[in-house]
Amino acid sequence: MPNKLVSIVISAYNEENNVAELHKQLNENLKKCKNIDFEYIFVDDGSKDKTYANCLKLQKKDKRVKIVQLKRNFGHEIAMTAGMDYAKGDAVVFMDADLQHPPVYIPQMIELWQNGKEIVLTKRLDNVATSKLYKLCAKSFYYVLNLVSDMPIMESAPDFRLLDRKYVNFLKSFNEQDRLFRGLLSWIMPQDNVEIIGFVAPERFSGESKYNFIKSLRLAVNSIVQFSVMPLRIATGLGIVAAIMALLMGLYVFVEHFFMHNPTPGYATIMVTVVFLGAVQLICLGIIGEYIGKIHMEVKKRPLYVADYVESKAEKDGAENNI
Ligand code: UDP
Ligand code: MG
Repeated sequence: MPNKLVSIVISAYNEENNVAELHKQLNENLKKCKNIDFEYIFVDDGSKDKTYANCLKLQKKDKRVKIVQLKRNFGHEIAMTAGMDYAKGDAVVFMDADLQHPPVYIPQMIELWQNGKEIVLTKRLDNVATSKLYKLCAKSFYYVLNLVSDMPIMESAPDFRLLDRKYVNFLKSFNEQDRLFRGLLSWIMPQDNVEIIGFVAPERFSGESKYNFIKSLRLAVNSIVQFSVMPLRIATGLGIVAAIMALLMGLYVFVEHFFMHNPTPGYATIMVTVVFLGAVQLICLGIIGEYIGKIHMEVKKRPLYVADYVESKAEKDGAENNI
């Protein structure tokens, strides 16, 4: 029986000093996997440094290396999608390029897959690289997300995972522009055949995190809007609460005026009411705007990315499965 092929999809944005080390560690660790062939797919997400050049160097040394070069920075989720599109493996492992997803865990993931698990997820046990404040923000975010989302989304579930070809194909059938792998995965997640392994994420080998506060916030808003219409319901709720408060206030003014003969001084009350209602309306408009913006982007059905593909030597020789 021919060996099974496993694709390792690595998304890299400005990771010039990490790709060679990652490649080295992958080679060291994947030797342990028996009866498995590998292909490494480096996705250069429009890096401005030497990431692409360094990937080309790796390709000269190793005939299993494929490169997908995105023509500009499309973001991590799209980079993973591009890698997945070019992956030919019977299973695909997704990982970051900065060695925060240690290759040492991949043999374990593959063994689980060989024993019948179709999805192997990872859970970060403790990340030495993140501050207490970051952890608190992340925890609160997942709490809110799970509160409003229609399906559970796992906390501390990094984009380090193995998917069987069946689930890769399911994921490939999603064509939304704005995508969050974690959420899409929850959407297709089976009840069984899933295993979660814990790992400790070390600090980045080199370089800096690409996620600043604004990027993380945008990701957070996107993930809520993509998987839930709850904010729209909250907007309706806010409107109802404001209406009830206005009604109660009207009643109060009416009683004061006609029964107590004590007309309420108007200025302050009017200002508070106007400002309150104005704020509620703006919040609601903002929420609706988020959804309309998403519709606007989605209806165009633009391609998800533009990329050049540099095939591996093995692919050129037509000997991909005999490595
Ligand atoms: N990344 C990417 N495109 C981007 C941002 C990040 O491909 O626009 C890659 C990055 O090179 C890394 C992975 O996604 O391999 C995770 O990014 P990062 O390490 O900056 O995130 P963090 O681990 O700090 O959450
Ligand atoms: Mg990282």
